[in-house]
Amino acid sequence: HSGFVAIIGRPNVGKSTFLNQVIGEKIAIMSDKAQTTRNKIQGIYTTATTQIVFIDTPGIHKPHSRLGDFMVQSALSTLNEVDCVIFMVNATEKKGKGDQFIIERLKQVKQPIFLVINKIDQVHPDDLLAIVDSYRNELAFKEVFPISALKGNNCEELVATLGKQL
Ligand code: GDP
Ligand code: MG
Repeated sequence: HSGFVAIIGRPNVGKSTFLNQVIGEKIAIMSDKAQTTRNKIQGIYTTATTQIVFIDTPGIHKPHSRLGDFMVQSALSTLNEVDCVIFMVNATEKKGKGDQFIIERLKQVKQPIFLVINKIDQVHPDDLLAIVDSYRNELAFKEVFPISALKGNNCEELVATLGKQL
């Protein structure tokens, strides 16, 4: 099993933390440069049977300039070229404009999209369902994964499922 997985989500939802959790700080290639036009390889997960190349796709936010518009288009074409997409959101915040903007763009993406709801260590289980529903009504997600990137909850399961998909 091998392939490319793009991770998309607003700043601070926990994308880097997730990659650190599944790949390990030693191997993950980290960069906190907020906005670049290039989609970067953030890390490569490797086991005896599986190789997953994780790609960061910055720039999907409401563009205010032609450059911004170009970046959105560039990120979108990347999302259609990878094998599958992780859309990561923050369980501790209600769906916001930034999330909604990404969702509207994801409607043009044909690859399977996994909804990953991060920071579940910070929310009561009863509240999680409402969060899940607020997103699930928007798009046909391949699967929904509540995780804690920080604590590691459900991260291995997510990676195993991605691996099977590839
Ligand atoms: P990114 O901008 O999407 O790459 O987000 P980061 O990985 O930099 O995380 C942003 C902040 O959220 C950091 O302070 C992380 O420690 C925190 N964070 C990430 N994942 C979790 C989680 O599962 N639980 C909690 N409680 N905090 C998290
Ligand atoms: Mg980051």
